[in-house]
Amino acid sequence: MIYVKATSDDVLLRKDGEYEICVYGDSFCSVCPKCGREHQLDESIVAQLLEESTLGGTSIYCAACTKTEQDNEVIV
Ligand SMILES: [Zn+2]
Repeated sequence: MIYVKATSDDVLLRKDGEYEICVYGDSFCSVCPKCGREHQLDESIVAQLLEESTLGGTSIYCAACTKTEQDNEVIV
């Protein structure tokens, strides 16, 4: 899952009852499916996900687990 972290300053309650959230490049976060740690997503990763339309149901490995996965691939 990918979500946006925002402070109350970034959230505006609209007249229609919905919330408007200002999103910045460093607002996107995910929880690593391997270690469970929350981590911020790089803007380039978010751009790539938007381009591929794979935001829904996507979990992103943190940098440490990504490295481990790559190391394992090299060993295998
Ligand atoms: Zn991890």
